[in-house]
Amino acid sequence: MNTFQELNLSKALKNAIDDLGFEKPTPIQEEAFSVILSGKDMVGIAQTGTGKTFAYLLPLLQDFKFSNQINPRILIIVPTRELVLQVVENVKEITKYMSIRVLGVFGGSNIKTQAQSVAQGCDVLVATPGRLYDLALNRALQLKEIKKLVIDEVDVMLDLGFIFQLTNIFEILPERRQNIMFSATMTEEVDLLIDDFFIKPVKVSIALSGTPLDNIQQTCYKAANFYTKTNLLLYLLRDQSEFNKVLVFVSDKKSADRLHELLAEELGTIVGVIHSNKSQNYRIRMVEEFDSGLIRVLVTTDIMSRGLDLEKISHVINFDTPTYAENYMHRIGRSGRAEQEGKSILFYSPKEEEAKVAIENLMDYSIPEIIFPEEVTVSSQLTPEERPKIEEKYSRNLLKNAPDTGFHEKSEKNKKVNLGGSYRRDIAKKYTKPKTKGDKRANNRKKK
Ligand code: AMP
Repeated sequence: MNTFQELNLSKALKNAIDDLGFEKPTPIQEEAFSVILSGKDMVGIAQTGTGKTFAYLLPLLQDFKFSNQINPRILIIVPTRELVLQVVENVKEITKYMSIRVLGVFGGSNIKTQAQSVAQGCDVLVATPGRLYDLALNRALQLKEIKKLVIDEVDVMLDLGFIFQLTNIFEILPERRQNIMFSATMTEEVDLLIDDFFIKPVKVSIALSGTPLDNIQQTCYKAANFYTKTNLLLYLLRDQSEFNKVLVFVSDKKSADRLHELLAEELGTIVGVIHSNKSQNYRIRMVEEFDSGLIRVLVTTDIMSRGLDLEKISHVINFDTPTYAENYMHRIGRSGRAEQEGKSILFYSPKEEEAKVAIENLMDYSIPEIIFPEEVTVSSQLTPEERPKIEEKYSRNLLKNAPDTGFHEKSEKNKKVNLGGSYRRDIAKKYTKPKTKGDKRANNRKKK
């Protein structure tokens, strides 16, 4: 199938598509359409630029009937104000020939004005999680009619620390609803959220296939632990002409800061770091300096790397082995762009061996291993995360150490009904004080 005709779009949508000048659906639009139309929960792995916004808007609006009720029926949650504005614009474009009221609400602007707009009524509400939660708490907004929920760029949302607002929003939504989620990268946090709030979601992925790009030379080293990996990286970086523009991936912010500090001690200001706790200005400066060559080594997390359009990276270093094989494909795709030759090096510890095998299985390619250099010191020092745990209290910690948390393997768990679960309990334990004025729920939780 590769025409819009074959999607059997309503006349109103078809006319709007024609006005936009789109000739055929993008792969994610093609794949998501029938799944969303069928009413099933869906998880889409797709990046910005793939046409994902229309991928959910088309099926959601296909059968959408006019109504003049006040409360919204479709809720779209996105991480940033910019995305709210963009999605609102897209809804307007695609509903040009329909009677649909769309409204965007986001933080950083007057909440009273937004509450007044909400009171006017809308069919489709596009919102950032914080503002949405506040409007709902203030009773300015009723979510009881929401039948369709879309969470876009959920990985970014979680990375920005919106988990509290998200889980609380889930709890005030009607239980009978369709959940649709898009994420560019799979993380354990995303996986956990799906597991707790989605029912047997269909996975639609147009993420990079398992075919490694031919122009990327891949190698790997087995290294015992974090500090040994650091020693190895410092050893490799000594060859300045070979390692002249190096993007180093780590899986989380804490490790990114720890590694950056250690590298900077030895190498000074030629090392930079970006992750979501750094300010926007700082991140922009780091990327500019890396692009211009002022910084030779940039440490980054998976999520932060998504928007980077970097030229001529000499090496991608996978300082840790991604639990999600697809993330590895995303990472190494940062090198060897266009016609350039790229090089990717993977460090894996004995604990990460299983994840490495999963990556190799996905690619159907065994990554050539380089013998660990004798000159490099093997450290016996362990990070707090690497130290054996005496007692594991929370499932989240257990999950962090689990070798494989691929959500496609959780079908058994997903058979349960949508009641909120371990996630909610974990969150309740974690957050004892209300984050927002008037959060009566926080007090209720404490009493439990
Ligand atoms: P998104 O991934 O939703 O941010 O969309 C990226 C861009 O692709 C937007 O500017 C859309 O207008 C455009 N787009 C979406 N669907 C199509 C299509 N089927 N054909 C051509 N362009 C499209």
